[in-house]
Amino acid sequence: MSGVSDPIHITPIGGLGEVGRNMMVIEHDDVRLVIDCGIGFPHGDDRGLGVDIYLPDVRALKGRPVDAVLITHAHDDHVAALAHLIRSGTPIGRMISLPFTTAMVEAKLSEHDLPLPPLQTVAPGEQIKIGSITVEFIRVSHSIPDPAAIALTTNLGTIVLTGDYKLDATGQDLKRQVDRKRLTAFGDAGVIAMLGDSTNAQLPGRTPSEATTIDPINDVIDEAQGRVVLTSFSSQIDRIDHAVRAADRTGRQVMLLGRSVRRNVKIAERLKEMAPPNLPTLGRRDIAGVKALVVCTGSQAEEFAVLGRASRGEHPDLNLGNGDTIVFASRPVPGNEGPVEEMQNMLRMRGARVITHHDAAIHVSGHARADEIVDMIRMLRPTSVIPVHGEPQMLEAQAELAIQNGVAADNVHVGSNGDVIEVDQNGLRLVDQINAIAIPAGSDGLPLEAGEPG
Ligand SMILES: [Zn+2]
Repeated sequence: MSGVSDPIHITPIGGLGEVGRNMMVIEHDDVRLVIDCGIGFPHGDDRGLGVDIYLPDVRALKGRPVDAVLITHAHDDHVAALAHLIRSGTPIGRMISLPFTTAMVEAKLSEHDLPLPPLQTVAPGEQIKIGSITVEFIRVSHSIPDPAAIALTTNLGTIVLTGDYKLDATGQDLKRQVDRKRLTAFGDAGVIAMLGDSTNAQLPGRTPSEATTIDPINDVIDEAQGRVVLTSFSSQIDRIDHAVRAADRTGRQVMLLGRSVRRNVKIAERLKEMAPPNLPTLGRRDIAGVKALVVCTGSQAEEFAVLGRASRGEHPDLNLGNGDTIVFASRPVPGNEGPVEEMQNMLRMRGARVITHHDAAIHVSGHARADEIVDMIRMLRPTSVIPVHGEPQMLEAQAELAIQNGVAADNVHVGSNGDVIEVDQNGLRLVDQINAIAIPAGSDGLPLEAGEPG
């Protein structure tokens, strides 16, 4: 049996030195937890090798049972490798998440023919005991419903994983607001380690609130004469909601095109994360000549998404041209700028008007900038900080902020995937390194056979 002095071991499997593939293992007192299990896209030297997706190296778990997988939110870089983890045969006791995340994970996993572990839905603030560890999900803001930070309270103190977050000061309702009170209460009680989102750590100031996109989206839709086609990330429910509300006000009928947009909006309506449009939604082929708002997939120029096909004139229900306004309420993910610009130009060549985040303030990031990260550090006052979710320069930027705000430099670890980090009340230390490489996958998310070219 374990004594009170059992150390806590934190092992990032993915998400360090890269944006994506987030996966973390936390072990203490015979309890083994995995936090998130997502996919990543090619970056750096990986580009142009013909690999679409990279998976975390779940072999690092060595097949030993996982008591629970805790999921911070439903973005693909946090959940889309769960099927791969289940398929690996590692026994999983249960998966735990907030309601929207559970519904999304269930929908995504149902596309695979897999035996699912129990999916447990919890509420923010609810405390779940897993062996000697008490788990609590805390509300934060991000760019999808139900994003959470996770607090793990052990007999050595509490570890807080921020998940992807920003500190949006004007969340549209209580469900979108950061629970600063709870974060501060954990800080008061003693946080021994914070694992913080580093994505925007290099940017000064604060990320604008999601609410700042409402008026610009209204204006764009108000001013458009013909059809409006809006694309964003398909889980960006608040942004889709802004557009649907603008359609309500201007008497436009809404059409949802693309599997993931339809699925996500259906889940959001069922869970009351957004209201359905006032007018009946349009079915396929009803669209020609109608003053409509089409919300569709394809903001990243994905080859077979709706907008990609429409830009090549290959979509049966969406023939775009003169009079149409195409709104990109998004921005290209890093490395994807070329293909997105090319698609936008193809749409312009068809006669459509293209509006991007360069033309109007119709997109904001879901990640905290430097001042918000400092706020988070001041609320939690952690003994140790491990920057996560980011490329090396992003991790270093957060490390710098932590040191400037009172965390001892020895207790800030800018690390790599596979680092085994031990933490306790006094700080942290690197005690081991295990293999955790990026596993190439095909566009179906299945690992490519060993030795298969590209
Ligand atoms: Zn995210």
